[in-house]
Amino acid sequence: MSISRAIAEQMERSSWIRRMFEIGIQLRKERGAENVFDFTLGNPDVEPPEEVLAALRRVVALNRSHSHGYMPNAGFPEVRARIAQGLATRTDLPFTADDVIMTTGAAGAINTVLKSILDPGDEVIVLNPYFPEYRFYIENHGGRVVEVETDGNFQPDLPRIAEAITPNTKALILNSPNNPTGTVYSERVLRDLDALIREPMIVISDEPYRPLTFDGVKPPETLSIIRRAVMAWSWSKAMAIAGERIGYLAIPPHLAEAAPLRNACTFANRILGYINATAIWQWVVAEVPEATVDVGQYQAKRDLLCDALTAMGYEAPRPQGSYYVFPKTPIPDDIAFIRALQAEGILAVPGSGFGRAGYMRLSLTIPRADLERSLAGFERAICASVACV
Ligand code: PLP
Repeated sequence: MSISRAIAEQMERSSWIRRMFEIGIQLRKERGAENVFDFTLGNPDVEPPEEVLAALRRVVALNRSHSHGYMPNAGFPEVRARIAQGLATRTDLPFTADDVIMTTGAAGAINTVLKSILDPGDEVIVLNPYFPEYRFYIENHGGRVVEVETDGNFQPDLPRIAEAITPNTKALILNSPNNPTGTVYSERVLRDLDALIREPMIVISDEPYRPLTFDGVKPPETLSIIRRAVMAWSWSKAMAIAGERIGYLAIPPHLAEAAPLRNACTFANRILGYINATAIWQWVVAEVPEATVDVGQYQAKRDLLCDALTAMGYEAPRPQGSYYVFPKTPIPDDIAFIRALQAEGILAVPGSGFGRAGYMRLSLTIPRADLERSLAGFERAICASVACV
């Protein structure tokens, strides 16, 4: 037995995240855990909201009959009906239970829809910089990744997207609020994008960070604006329950191929081995679908970090959402600069890991006290890399 060439290549390409993990272990040994400042993780550092934990206790105490068995592959019909009701209110579209498939997080939802629409060699557009797992999700199902650069504000660049669309383009993945840039896509950009999307292409709107926005920003409703969009949702970030693997795929009823796509996705969810989203958590999220962690604590850390970095001479604009800051590295070689930060005990992911060299991603899930203690290291690193006054 040997592992496949394909997975060996994929593991090699994903090595930035793995490498940071290994470097983190080594640095903790050398300097002591209290002197390592880990900005690499996308794992919420807070506990789930109390109303989520209370709903979990209620669901367990209620112990509905057959609540631990198999269920229809798309999930419990009552749960899907409750989610559909919320979606209908939000989007003004006539969603019903049939239009919602419960999935193992957004990752499960995206893999399910890609499995359902891709034939070998079909193309999927991703907007650079992007969440690196998209490449693997697309390649899992024989698809070909087509990278399209975003504009100077990390918004979708419509002329470039138009140029990249070919008869083989089956999908474009949108992610707003964005990982890694924290950008929220504007309504105007989404309207212009809607005009570009023609059959058989669809938009997969990946929205796990939708409730995590700052300064009162409200992301436009992608499903109401882009007529050929489906949505991948997850409560991992909103409720800080990433380990529970709960999300859904929403397929709007107005999509011409809604019925065959629903059937294909329900089947794909099963044959990919996800079968159905975790049973107990389906009931929990149906009770409190809007519950969200305190976004204020991320906003406060964003302000602290962006203000401090800007004062030191970094170009670190404030993100509008998600929990990532994406500053420019003071030198174009982001990997060299990441090494300079490591010398200060600071772990960050190079922009190259997301397809955009010259930047770095800093996660606001780091505890505030660690963030505060890391700032002197950021200052020394920039002074060592460029002339400091
Ligand atoms: N999409 C983006 C942009 C993400 O950042 C993540 C996780 O970090 C996912 C999808 C996967 O979400 P989940 O773990 O809830 O499936």
